[in-house]
Amino acid sequence: MMISKGMTRSGGHLFIISAPSGAGKTTLAKAVLERHGDMLYSVSYTTRKPRASEQDGADYHFISKQNFEAGIETGQWAEWAEVYGNYYGTSDRFIVHGLSSGRDILLDIDVQGTIQILKKYPDSITIFILPPSIKILRKRLEMRGTDSPQVIDRRLEYARHEMAQKNLYRHVIVNDNLSKAIEDLNDIIKKYR
Ligand code: ADP
Ligand code: 5GP
Repeated sequence: MMISKGMTRSGGHLFIISAPSGAGKTTLAKAVLERHGDMLYSVSYTTRKPRASEQDGADYHFISKQNFEAGIETGQWAEWAEVYGNYYGTSDRFIVHGLSSGRDILLDIDVQGTIQILKKYPDSITIFILPPSIKILRKRLEMRGTDSPQVIDRRLEYARHEMAQKNLYRHVIVNDNLSKAIEDLNDIIKKYR
């Protein structure tokens, strides 16, 4: 096997995207996956309720709190975290299997999860997406129309906390103009593939 920059010891590359909620991570991840059809997306498991536009198995695997906690006991998660009062986790089996078959994988996880993955896979390529400002972030969350004002306040508070940790990441992108941000992200990914 030829080892290239950023490749994990097990094979493929692990790309991690984090961003405060509403910064455009889902939009950007979709654009990357359209461009790189052979890249795997790690569909996370969560106890959060699905939004109207979300599909079980595609956006998330929606599971009960009981099943999630059983997964913690049995070591099912490569990483897991509690965010905004819900559990979120990455399937360990999916990551191990994908990487060992030489595939590149995209993870969309928060800062707590990134820290855990970096312990296991220090070569992961980490990318933080910043909104142009907190004011614009609030506007995007309001425009998305999926969260109540209280939930938006909670997400903005956590956003400040997450943005303060952006230096843990190898790359930082500001998602101001969407097509420019997609280009920036693709340029980073191209460097490693
Ligand atoms: P996240 O996955 O980070 O929570 P989304 O991808 O759902 O964020 O984006 C939040 C909202 O902002 C969506 O309605 C999306 O269409 C919009 N959005 C994303 N990027 C931009 C951008 N560069 N300019 C304006 N609106 C954007
Ligand atoms: P949302 O509820 O808006 O889809 O996601 C909320 C937050 O949870 C985002 O910051 C997102 O990146 C994070 N997240 C989604 N899946 C996972 C996961 O599997 N693990 C961790 N640690 N965070 C996740």
